[in-house]
Amino acid sequence: MSTLEIRDLQVSVKLPEGELKPILHGVDLTVKSGETHAIMGPNGSGKSTLAYSVAGHPKYEITGGSVTLDGEDVLEMSVDERARAGLFLAMQYPVEVPGVSVANFLRTAKTAIDGEAPKLRTWGGELRGAMERLHMDPAFAQRNVNEGFSGGEKKRHEIVQLELLKPKMAILDETDSGLDVDALRVVSEGVNRVRDTGDTGLLLITHYTRILRYIKPDFVHVFVAGRIVEQGGPELADKLEESGYERYAAGAGPAR
Ligand code: ADP
Ligand code: MG
Ligand code: MG
Repeated sequence: MSTLEIRDLQVSVKLPEGELKPILHGVDLTVKSGETHAIMGPNGSGKSTLAYSVAGHPKYEITGGSVTLDGEDVLEMSVDERARAGLFLAMQYPVEVPGVSVANFLRTAKTAIDGEAPKLRTWGGELRGAMERLHMDPAFAQRNVNEGFSGGEKKRHEIVQLELLKPKMAILDETDSGLDVDALRVVSEGVNRVRDTGDTGLLLITHYTRILRYIKPDFVHVFVAGRIVEQGGPELADKLEESGYERYAAGAGPAR
């Protein structure tokens, strides 16, 4: 049983001129293994900033608050240490890794996180199985990570990683964006398999309610202008589907 605790998190993005632009204005969130949380908010509200801050991207400066995983200070950890501690981020825009094949990348990541190389006897089968379940051609194993992948292929590769690495906490940043209906179903099934193990806490960041028809969240948090402005159960997603985010922007949301 693991707990990710985000307390009063305040984050600025570092602008090229060295200035700081405040984006997150005090975010509180607790995610436990086996729970699925959806963070829903309009474009530019700071959802990716939250994901990157927890993952340790150098572009963001933490100006206040704390993030802990099972009581350990995440903000003190390097990016590698965060991954070894069991944190996983599927990025909104997965990056290409030239010269590194999918097979090598996954094996290296698995080795780093587990502290030992996966068993040769079983690893090949595990990898093939995960790729098959995500409807990825086995030929992808020999291709360079994300190089020339379509949007949907990148997202499916992220879920292959998720299934193989078995993190304690996974943040999925707009994993649904740019997917057609079939790919969305395949990706959602992968996320649900991980969810059903009960070992992983999931933080699903999304702009649209569409993916929540396939992956039922236990909790929904509405995120606007760097803050959580409303929280509830899955019914809150249905409400958003009807009314959108405008009333929050207009300041007509519920009292905080
Ligand atoms: P979301 O993921 O909700 O769309 P982001 O976290 O990507 O929001 O962005 C939040 C805000 O931070 C936006 O106003 C965006 O323009 C700004 N921002 C993010 N990165 C940078 C950057 N490198 N330079 C300037 N502004 C940035
Ligand atoms: Mg965005
Ligand atoms: Mg984003």
